[in-house]
Amino acid sequence: MNTALNLASVTLEYPDGDGTLKALDDVNVKLARGEFLSLVGPSGSGKSSLLAVAATLVRPTAGLVVIGGIDAGGLSEAERTSLRRDQIGIIFQQPNLLPSLTALEQLVIRDHLRGKPARAATRRAAELLDLVGLDPAAGKRPHQLSGGQRQRVNIARALMGDPAVLLVDEPTAALDHDRSEAIVRLLRHVTEEFGVATVMVTHDTGFVPLTDTVASMRDGRISALRPVSPSLA
Ligand code: ADP
Ligand code: MG
Repeated sequence: MNTALNLASVTLEYPDGDGTLKALDDVNVKLARGEFLSLVGPSGSGKSSLLAVAATLVRPTAGLVVIGGIDAGGLSEAERTSLRRDQIGIIFQQPNLLPSLTALEQLVIRDHLRGKPARAATRRAAELLDLVGLDPAAGKRPHQLSGGQRQRVNIARALMGDPAVLLVDEPTAALDHDRSEAIVRLLRHVTEEFGVATVMVTHDTGFVPLTDTVASMRDGRISALRPVSPSLA
């Protein structure tokens, strides 16, 4: 298996009064490129903590975080930042778009900040917007887009760096059911098209059949990691 993301025996503790709270408790997740995992569980069960650790934004108290074969635990903060830029796409619930930029510019600036040539970045950005169902030439700014369209820009932007891993936290929380389903189907499509390993936190178990594997979390532990029956998709 071409493992893109490997969390092995990951524990994350936060100080909690006199004791500690285990936000993650001996979590194991292995994901290949092109695989789509949904992560479900009650509020406070550790879903966002798992994404933060996988995103190398938070160092675990114990355990291994391996992204594209690289052990993030052995890296300096600067090295973790570049690993994140090169290997990880992050999509949170509220697209954090810059108000004054067009959809195309939101994507181009991300590559510009990495010192890549502008013309290649513009071409790639236009291709990605097209792929997520937006007109690259429309020149729309965030306030001129619907919530679903903003989330599409967010997804396209996360793909600009050609990541190995896509981490998605409740991407549909602000959307109605039909728009939500379209976003999850789009995530399924880009997971296959770009061969990324995608982890999606969702409170809506109705979308689980669109993914390959489902993990249920409770009290910081993954209580079940099971394949989704293909007949349901
Ligand atoms: P979920 O995303 O499933 O709702 P979280 O990962 O956000 O769960 O939280 C898991 C547990 O860790 C909760 O008990 C939460 O209160 C705690 N927690 C999360 N972040 C922090 C933090 N920065 N400091 C202290 N406790 C935290
Ligand atoms: Mg959360």
